Amino acid sequence: MAQLSDDCFAFGGPLRSIDETVALITSRLTAVEGTETVSLGSADGRILAADVIAPLPLPPFTNSAVDGYALSGADLPETGEQAYPIVGRIEAGMSPGLPIPEGRAVRIFTGAPMAEGTDTVFMQEDVRLDDADRVILPPGLKRGANVRPAGEDIAAGKTVLKAGHRMRPQDVALAAALGLTEVTVRRRIRVAVFSTGNEIVAPGRPRSPAQLFDSNRFMLIAMLGRLGCQITDLGILRDDPDAISDSLRTAAMAHDLILTSGGVSTGEADYVRKSVESVGSLVFWRVAIKPGRPVAMGVIRGAAFIGLPGNPVASFVTFAHIARPAILALAGADLPPQLSAPVRAAFSYRKKKGRREYVRASLRKAEDGSYEVVKFPREGAGLLSSLVETDGLVELGEESIGVEPGQTVNFLGYSSLI
Ligand code: AMP
Ligand code: MG
Repeated sequence: MAQLSDDCFAFGGPLRSIDETVALITSRLTAVEGTETVSLGSADGRILAADVIAPLPLPPFTNSAVDGYALSGADLPETGEQAYPIVGRIEAGMSPGLPIPEGRAVRIFTGAPMAEGTDTVFMQEDVRLDDADRVILPPGLKRGANVRPAGEDIAAGKTVLKAGHRMRPQDVALAAALGLTEVTVRRRIRVAVFSTGNEIVAPGRPRSPAQLFDSNRFMLIAMLGRLGCQITDLGILRDDPDAISDSLRTAAMAHDLILTSGGVSTGEADYVRKSVESVGSLVFWRVAIKPGRPVAMGVIRGAAFIGLPGNPVASFVTFAHIARPAILALAGADLPPQLSAPVRAAFSYRKKKGRREYVRASLRKAEDGSYEVVKFPREGAGLLSSLVETDGLVELGEESIGVEPGQTVNFLGYSSLI
């Protein structure tokens, strides 16, 4: 398992910015050990444990980029049309055959290897054939045109993918083009998830009038799945410190991270906090984020613990901004930049200085065709509709005191967050 030291998150002090928080998390958490080899068919989304080095150039041989006629660039027509006898035919997949003598052209197709003695290809659309079956080429083509030289894409020996990179479909394609059948990746991190609260009940179970169906656990499991984690669903724990402690202790033995929601507020019923303290160490991080405070970070017998707030929107936002970097660090993945787009605000909003706020908002097309962003009309951290009916979050920095219509703001689409 991850084997963290108990004081790994021990920093006291004042409200900490999100950037500082993420920098601390990523500097304290090290990647889990353990790698595996996976076939390309299961490589998408996995994190490379070793660099991938090109064993051959791409393309592996010089070939034609078009269907047409190849000849030597030394023979190109300069001022007027010129006729060339055709001395052969090279289709894709064929060997190029004999060298082509000067003053001759060879019929060639896209992807076919260039014959020795040729370095330029005329597109078939640009030429004519005469009665003697010669090809008539127009002047003006540059030497080397319509040819894809060996190695123009990738040189042999180049590091094409780096350790820590998360494989995407195009990366899998590159590995395949290089003739690889498998890649070495980090093992998936093991994450245990549970919800807490006497008022929370699993969908499908009888719900008493004062109970809510559990939504956070399903949201967190879905987000962890997108990050490639191996997930254990531990269900809902009652607000009972002993039961929570037992579950935490057991979960810590077989997981790299325990992720919970609820029970970490500073109210009376802060059971998770007491329980973590009884089996490991816990630090409350006063992160300057809204919605979201507080987030609990801890270590239980070498495993990381992150306790997210219970309100669904707070859980979502703190997962995206705090849990996600921690998960990527444990998984050995580079932290990709969260791309925010500058868009025009079509709303006004006041905020306090000193913390970063994420405002749920939707994009809409303005009359001039550009995009503007509109805030969801209500602000409660428990409103699931505010996440479902919007496209992303407007990020208002620590120094901001609000937004006026027409101002440019940073918009983070949900697809860039999770
Ligand atoms: P807590 O952080 O435990 O004080 O919870 C804050 C709010 O979030 C309360 O209104 C809880 O009922 C609600 N909540 C806690 N856990 C969940 C959950 N798993 N699904 C939906 N709502 C929750
Ligand atoms: Mg609770």
